[in-house]
Amino acid sequence: HKPGENPQTRPELREQHLGATDGQVRTRFPPEPNGYLHIGHSKAIFVNFGYAAHHGGKCYLRFDDTNPEKEEARYFESIIEVVRWLGFEPWKITYSSDYFDQLYDLAVELIKRDKAYVCHCTQEQIKADRGEKISAPKACVHRSRPIQESLDDFKKMTDGYYRPKEANLRMKMDLTDGNPQMWDLTAYRVLDASHHRTLDKWKIYPTYDYTHCLVDSFENISHSLCTTEFIASRQSYEWLCDALEVYKPKQSEFGRLNLQGTINSKRKILQLVDEGYVSGWDDPRLYTLIALRRRGVPPGAILSFVSTLGVSTAASNIQIARFEQTVRQYLEGSAPRLFMVMRPLKVIIENVPDDYLVMVDKPFHPKNPQLGSSQIPFTRTIYIDADDFRLEDTKDYFRLAPGKSVGLFQAPYPITCTSYKTDSATGEVTEVVCRLEDSGTPPKPKAYIQWVAEHASSGSPVRIDETRIFHPLFKSDNPLAAVPDFKADINSNSMEVIKGAMVEVSFWPLAKRSIADALEEARARSAKAKAIPGAGSHDADTPQITPEQL
Ligand code: ATP
Ligand code: MG
Ligand code: MG
Repeated sequence: HKPGENPQTRPELREQHLGATDGQVRTRFPPEPNGYLHIGHSKAIFVNFGYAAHHGGKCYLRFDDTNPEKEEARYFESIIEVVRWLGFEPWKITYSSDYFDQLYDLAVELIKRDKAYVCHCTQEQIKADRGEKISAPKACVHRSRPIQESLDDFKKMTDGYYRPKEANLRMKMDLTDGNPQMWDLTAYRVLDASHHRTLDKWKIYPTYDYTHCLVDSFENISHSLCTTEFIASRQSYEWLCDALEVYKPKQSEFGRLNLQGTINSKRKILQLVDEGYVSGWDDPRLYTLIALRRRGVPPGAILSFVSTLGVSTAASNIQIARFEQTVRQYLEGSAPRLFMVMRPLKVIIENVPDDYLVMVDKPFHPKNPQLGSSQIPFTRTIYIDADDFRLEDTKDYFRLAPGKSVGLFQAPYPITCTSYKTDSATGEVTEVVCRLEDSGTPPKPKAYIQWVAEHASSGSPVRIDETRIFHPLFKSDNPLAAVPDFKADINSNSMEVIKGAMVEVSFWPLAKRSIADALEEARARSAKAKAIPGAGSHDADTPQITPEQL
C-alpha cells in the first residue's frame, strides 16, 4: 500500500500525514535498550532502513525506553554504534520517552472519552476474570466507574499515591472480541524506578501496547514494520489510534530470523553473560552483533546474509552453517591467508647446511594474486603441525610418516622423513628428521601441509601465547528444546585454548594494520557517540583497545 493509505477514522488525518512527510516513506527501527543487538535484529535493521532507502524515504532509530527497570546507558550507545557499523545512518534518533508528556495528555483524553479506566485488580484477579480457558473475560468492577473517578485516580497514580501494582490504567476495549489483545490492555502502570532520561519525574510509565502505535503516529510513520508475533497486536494498535482519532500508520509484519544452534533473545543472552557461561556480550561464541564484529565478521557479510532471507511472514530458521558459509564466501576475496601451526612439531632438514636460507614468495591467497604476497624464510629447521605426522602409515594417509614424502605449501621441494626422535620418558615424538628432495626426480607429493621456519633474524616464526578456538556454544540445533532449560544444552568444551602455536612472520605487519584500522574505527565511533543526546559516552578521548577486543 502507499504511505498513509490505511483507512482513517478522520480522512483529514491522512492529508495532515502526507503534508508532514511529503508523501515519503517513513519507517523506524524501535529497539528496547535492554541488551545488545543480535543477528536477528540485523534483519529488522535491514528491513526498516532498507525499505526507507529503497523508496527514497527516511528511517528513525527510536529507543523504546518505557521499561526503566531493564534499561542501561551502555545498551543505548552500543545500539547506535552497531546500526552505524552495519552502514545505516538514522534520519533521527528519538526516544519513546521524548513523548511522555504527549502520551500522558492522550491518556487523560482517553479517560475523558470513556475509553480508559483506573483498575485496582491484582494480576490474579485479572487472570481469574479471563477464566480457565482463554475466552471472553468478565468485566471487573472498575470498568464501569464514573469518568471523573478514573481521572482523579489517574492523577493519584501520577502523584505517587499508589505503590506498583496497586493501580493500572487500562484501556476500555472490547471484551467480547475473540482477540485477547482487545481485552482491556494496560496503558500505564506505577513503577518505582528512575528513568535514565526523565530521571524521577514520572511515577507511572506507559506500556508497549499503549506507546508504540502512538509514537508511530506522532512520528508520521508510514509503514510500521514489525515481526509476526505482533499480528494480534495490530488490532489493538488500530483501536487506540482510532479511539483517540490520531493518524493511524499501517502495520505490516515480517518473519523473525532465528539462527539455529544459538540463542536469539536478549533476555537469555543476558543470562549466559550474568551466569558466566560466556565472557561477555561480545564473546565470540555468541551471535550478538558486537560478538560477530569481534570475530572479524565484516558488516557487509551480515547484510549479504540477511538480504538473501526475504521478508515474507514465514519465520526463517537458518542453520549457523549457512550463515558461516556466507561469511566465508564474503571474506574469500579480501582476507589474507597465513600459515599457522597449532601444535608445532620440529622438523630438521638433514641434507642442507646450517645457514640454508631460501626466501619464499608466498601469495596471501593461492587463487587471488591481487591480495599480494609475503616473503617468508625457508630454513634447515621448520615446524609443522603435530597432526600432520604419524608413526603408523596407512593407505589413505598422505601426510608425513617415517619413509614417506609430503609437499610443503609454496616451498621449493617436498621432504621425506628419514628418522625421528622421541622423549625417552613419554615416548612422544619430539623431532622429525627429513631429507629435502632437491635432486634427481623428486617424488610427487599427494598432499601439501603448512609449515613455518625458524629464522631469528627475520623474526620467524611468530610465537602465539594463547590461541582460542571457538566451537559451538550449544550441543544441539535447538537449545530451547532442552530440559529443564537451554542451559542444559551448553557444550562445556566450546572454547579450546592452545598454547604455543606459531604463525608466519607476515602476521605482525597485518596485525598492526588491523589494530590501526580498529583504533581508527573506535575513534570515529566514540566521536559520534558523543554527539548523541542523552547517551553520555563512557569512553575517554582516546579509545582503549585491548587485544581482547580485537
Ligand atoms: P529479544 O526477544 O531478543 O529481546 P525483542 O524483539 O524484544 O528481541 P526489540 O529490542 O524489541 O527486541 O527489537 C527491536 C526490533 O527488532 C523489533 O521490531 C523486533 O521485532 C525486531 N527483532 C527482534 N528480534 C528479531 C529477530 N530475531 N528477527 C527479526 N527481527 C527481530
Ligand atoms: Mg520488544
Ligand atoms: Mg524482548
